[in-house]
Amino acid sequence: MHTFEFVRANDPALAVAITSQAKTAQQGADMRFVAGGTTLLDLMKLNVEQPAKLVDVNGLPLDKIERTADGGLKIGATMRNADLAHHADVQRDYPVLSQAILQGASAQIRNMATTAGNLLQRTRCMFFRDTAMPCNKREPGSGCPAIGGGNRMLAILGTSEQCIASNPSDMNVAMAALEAVVHIRGAKGERDVAIGEFHVLPGNTPSRENVLEPGDLITHVTLPAAAKGSKSIYLKLRDRTSYEFALASAAVIVNVADGRFERVRIAMGGVGTKPWRMPEAEAALVGQAVGDEAVMRRAAEAGLKDARPQSENGFKVELAKRCLVYALKQATQNA
Ligand SMILES: Cc1cc2nc3c(=O)[nH]c(=O)nc-3n(C[C@H](O)[C@H](O)[C@H](O)COP(=O)(O)OP(=O)(O)OC[C@H]3O[C@@H](n4cnc5c(N)ncnc54)[C@H](O)[C@@H]3O)c2cc1C
Repeated sequence: MHTFEFVRANDPALAVAITSQAKTAQQGADMRFVAGGTTLLDLMKLNVEQPAKLVDVNGLPLDKIERTADGGLKIGATMRNADLAHHADVQRDYPVLSQAILQGASAQIRNMATTAGNLLQRTRCMFFRDTAMPCNKREPGSGCPAIGGGNRMLAILGTSEQCIASNPSDMNVAMAALEAVVHIRGAKGERDVAIGEFHVLPGNTPSRENVLEPGDLITHVTLPAAAKGSKSIYLKLRDRTSYEFALASAAVIVNVADGRFERVRIAMGGVGTKPWRMPEAEAALVGQAVGDEAVMRRAAEAGLKDARPQSENGFKVELAKRCLVYALKQATQNA
């Protein structure tokens, strides 16, 4: 592990100012905010990340949850995943978010992990985490051994010739279905980014995973008001039922009227290079009768139509379809 400078920031303006002192973008890229540390410190010990400076954000007043004027929710960047998942408003109005968080990691990790840290957690691809191996994400241009093998856990949607690493987060999948907005404060001011545009596809630049610029601080995430009468569920399929990342997962939010799907939001995890919203699957359901398995299967086919499996993860295509159908059945069970 390399030596680094450690600074505590106690107000967001100061945190941004500290990182903005860097004279060049390259220097800014050498700085990292640290929140729970459950991703970053692991990667520093592995020498995958080697920041010259860490700015501790735990003292920032960003650990609260509040209702917004339009009935939505404002979730602070440093709010712990456990506090978010167990919050009464989240459990009542956004159960899919609570379920997704509680199916991730372990109780100890959720007690440390934060909203922003979870949004920015990095892939578990074993080649990315092993500095003895090439990896285009870690070291642009070095190659991607995962494309030849060792790809069982990796993505089937949104991949490129440079990178097939999957986004491992459960929380991000629920946030994508809930159409969350990420609020950012940087050297040039504040901006809001819809979650669907926050994470980016690997393309030819897999080292870039999101739209943040060096020094950008996530201050909070907002959720729109929950759709009245909606039912939601997060279903996670994995090799063991605890303390394991998803092979395929589905966040499903549905409104049913007169026995038909009226409004549907679907995102999947474990299968995409980013949290994978499925508008084609949603469109295939709206107006259709609930309880018809053929309809749900057609929606799943539509959602997975662009899947490009690798040598060891072809099973994910069928697994993801079944995951989505089962989640839809559960969400509409008593509708
Ligand atoms: C053994 C293990 C099992 C796990 N299993 C799962 C699982 O099943 N499902 C799952 O979803 N997750 C899982 N995780 C991942 C876990 O959820 C993440 O490690 C955690 O959410 C990261 O949050 P953190 O606050 O600790 O982030 P940190 O490690 O502190 O930071 C992560 C990244 O976010 C950046 N950052 C943090 N805060 C801000 C901010 N306010 N603004 C800008 N940048 C910021 C940091 O610079 C860093 O790049 C697992 C982790 C471990 C170690």
